[in-house]
Amino acid sequence: MKIAVVGTGYVGLVTGTCLAETGNRVTCVDIDKNKVDMLKNGQIPIYEPGLEAMFERNVNQNRLSFTTSLAEGIKDAEVIFLALPTPPGENGSADLKYILKVAHDLGPLLDKYVVIVDKSTVPVGTAVKVSDAIAVNCSVDFDVVSNPEFLREGVAVDDFMKPDRVVVGTKSERAQKIMSKLFSPLVRQGNPILFMDEASAELTKYAANSFLATKITFMNEIANLCEQLGADVDAVRRGIGTDTRIGKRFLFAGIGYGGSCFPKDVQALEKSSSDADYDFKILKSVMEVNQLQKTKLIPEIVKHFKGDLSGKTIAVWGLAFKPYTDDIREAPALENIKMLLDLGAKVKAYDPEAMTNVKAMMGDQMTYCKDEYESTIDADALLIMTEWPEFRTPDFDKLSEEMNGQVIFDGRNLFDIEDMKDKAFKYVSIGRVKIND
Ligand code: NAD
Repeated sequence: MKIAVVGTGYVGLVTGTCLAETGNRVTCVDIDKNKVDMLKNGQIPIYEPGLEAMFERNVNQNRLSFTTSLAEGIKDAEVIFLALPTPPGENGSADLKYILKVAHDLGPLLDKYVVIVDKSTVPVGTAVKVSDAIAVNCSVDFDVVSNPEFLREGVAVDDFMKPDRVVVGTKSERAQKIMSKLFSPLVRQGNPILFMDEASAELTKYAANSFLATKITFMNEIANLCEQLGADVDAVRRGIGTDTRIGKRFLFAGIGYGGSCFPKDVQALEKSSSDADYDFKILKSVMEVNQLQKTKLIPEIVKHFKGDLSGKTIAVWGLAFKPYTDDIREAPALENIKMLLDLGAKVKAYDPEAMTNVKAMMGDQMTYCKDEYESTIDADALLIMTEWPEFRTPDFDKLSEEMNGQVIFDGRNLFDIEDMKDKAFKYVSIGRVKIND
């Protein structure tokens, strides 16, 4: 099939590349000329494991191309995906201006039946709005389908190629057939394509992300309670995670969720609910608890330095909102670093992939190091913000020798509590006893 993908960010680029991999001819459209130029030159603007090889293969076989022109990109397309940003608007609801702008622009460009697929995360009712915006100036038949994306950054290629399920919201049989044909190579192992109405598909995405954010937050509250009661959150996690009704995933305590999806999606669902006169109490608590959780270690750091951080150097390991990505949107590390700087501390940071993005945002307010050990030289404390695997087994003797202070604040519970007992460090983590305090 001939496919267009409008919006070539984390979702659009993965969608376009993976659909090319299954044999379609895909053109990705983006208004960001720099991004399109990079892609045309064979460079990928984001870090996503496994994407590069697939991208190269499909570009070389002329199945994947890039343009800044919407008209050129959608020419002859049978399916047009919208993978556009839906950031929080002023009141917390999803801002639809990017999607509706493209919908308006599409109307006069369509010259035959086409399926327009909304992959962005959008509130209930958006498919109707997109359809209305296209219809203002369009003389051909078209269908608008809601097809929320569930990929996770860091494992996006695998998630797209082997989805647990594909959700397709449309009442049109014609569109259903086209979507079945397009997605059938991805569900050959029997995972379902779930057809439903547009509103239910739109809500499914918010329900999924809000449920996961709630699960994380619930566990973080259990962790906080563990600290009060002297229990160990890792033991509790194992205790409940082995219950198949609960499951093992999304139960790891830490400094809260971040990223470009959970915070904005929980907020947008709460706003949709209040607009519909429904008081979604759990979501309000989830947002409140997560906000507090993100900077939970700062008071511990302040206490350790007896209230005075001026001139202290804090090494920070991890800047991305989670491992295997360079995405720093809503990353807890950034909020922590800003607080440390406000308190007069100096920050020396390292992240395997996110340094360029952080530099563009924070400039020379902090020092960027070439690896984790450079950041800890002469540091008064180490603060761990992202669970990159390479941080899990550090050379503690080297750290102890090279650091000024012997204290680690771990927002991701990377180290075994028992192992830390015979190390030289004071060790403060989440939901577990403090070691060598
Ligand atoms: P992104 O910001 O990485 O990419 C969006 C792209 O759209 C950008 O490259 C931007 O330049 C481009 N764009 C903006 N206006 C345009 C226009 N008029 N024409 C063409 N291109 C335009 O965003 P993302 O992370 O890919 O997210 C896209 C949507 O998918 C959001 O609704 C998000 O909530 C949802 N989503 C994201 C993820 C994720 O992990 N990132 C997962 C599932 C769903």
